[in-house]
Amino acid sequence: MISPGERVAVAVSGGKDSVTLLHLLAELGEMKKFEVVAISIDEGIRGYRDRSIRVAKENTNSIGIEHVTGEFERYFGETLDGMVRLAKRKKMSLYPCTYCGVMRRYLLNKLAREVGATKLATAHNLDDEVQAIMLNYIRGDLSRLQRLGPVYFSREGFVPRIKPLREIPEKEVAVYALLRKFKVHLAKCPYATGIHTEIRDFLNGLEARHPNSKFMILRTFDSVKARLSLHSEEFETRSCKICGEPTSSDVCKSCKLLGELGLLRP
Ligand SMILES: [Zn+2]
Repeated sequence: MISPGERVAVAVSGGKDSVTLLHLLAELGEMKKFEVVAISIDEGIRGYRDRSIRVAKENTNSIGIEHVTGEFERYFGETLDGMVRLAKRKKMSLYPCTYCGVMRRYLLNKLAREVGATKLATAHNLDDEVQAIMLNYIRGDLSRLQRLGPVYFSREGFVPRIKPLREIPEKEVAVYALLRKFKVHLAKCPYATGIHTEIRDFLNGLEARHPNSKFMILRTFDSVKARLSLHSEEFETRSCKICGEPTSSDVCKSCKLLGELGLLRP
């Protein structure tokens, strides 16, 4: 996933997975001669993200890793909490995870590119990846399915993404973080509800009764994907008419969502 001389941006929220990935990559980087820089996204979720980012900073400070933070408020003109309130006032239905997911990915890519990263590492573990596979099956979202994998090379303007912990069960990451006595933030996002939680509970029940199910779902998905050679839909990279970031259409998804909320700055 990483070659000597690369500059790897690690997305660090302060949770156990990202803190573990940060330490592992920092240690591996010393041995294998690549650089590590941490990126945190502050969506503006009061009482949750402020605390987790403090933990992330304690970790990067303790090992002397460069750390940049991107705030929704600074880049999008409003916090996620503010967007949720705004949508309520406008009587719009807003699913916070959609906004959060799209805008967090946007900002991670932008910041990774701006700090000169050659890869962007995220701390998705086996459980996260299998949940994503199931969710996209249920939704029939082939375009998202084909993006799932250990390495995702997109196109110009997008920093290639890697998931070093993709085959490690969540429990094992937790035990490792505990044994290494890493400082981690353990709270749950107040917006996390809905189908994601149901899929997680279903998979945990399945795994308890039929051990190895999660890993087999991942392996089967990978081999089906390789055989079908699901291609990304061919599209040219364009620049968003509004913000200039790379996108497949005239206006990027983040700007579309901001527009619906009336938050686009002229
Ligand atoms: Zn845009």
